[in-house]
Amino acid sequence: MEKLTNRSAPVNRDPMTFGEKIYLPAIAKGLSITIGHIFKKKATVSYPEEKRPFSPVFRGLHVLNRDEEGRERCTACGLCALACPAEAITMEAAERKPGEENLYREEKYAAKYEINMLRCIFCGYCEEACPKDAVYLSETIMPTNYTRDSFIYKKEDLLIPHPKMQQETK
Ligand code: SF4
Ligand code: SF4
Repeated sequence: MEKLTNRSAPVNRDPMTFGEKIYLPAIAKGLSITIGHIFKKKATVSYPEEKRPFSPVFRGLHVLNRDEEGRERCTACGLCALACPAEAITMEAAERKPGEENLYREEKYAAKYEINMLRCIFCGYCEEACPKDAVYLSETIMPTNYTRDSFIYKKEDLLIPHPKMQQETK
């Protein structure tokens, strides 16, 4: 039969030698490789005590931003969701009511804003698409978890703390 590639190697079917039958040379060879690795520089680190330095362009968990007065910057325009190649962002827009000017910067705001981190590929397109500087990717690594639901980050999980309220609690 004609070979598809020349990568196949013939199987050696010669009878085993005495050395091969007692396995000791093979065990000694394996141990010598293991012992040799003990004195080499480790390729792993003892995480979380030890952490590798990240690249300066590392992109971690998303953050929803507020302005200097603590008002939410997001206007629920949907551009981030449109730019997202993984379709990880969903939102629901709402109209700002009179008296809520201290909460939301624009007349429209995101009543609901969710990012599915299991879909997200941390490409940063949402950050680039946002005209209001409302969403950006921080340097925080996404924590691991056991349930799928815990990877759906809601607006409350993403919003940065209110700057004024934070000062009051200090
Ligand atoms: S980082 Fe990329 S994949 Fe993740 S939500 Fe933003 S646009 Fe979508
Ligand atoms: S985060 Fe930015 S792009 Fe996304 S809906 Fe809000 S204002 Fe629009």
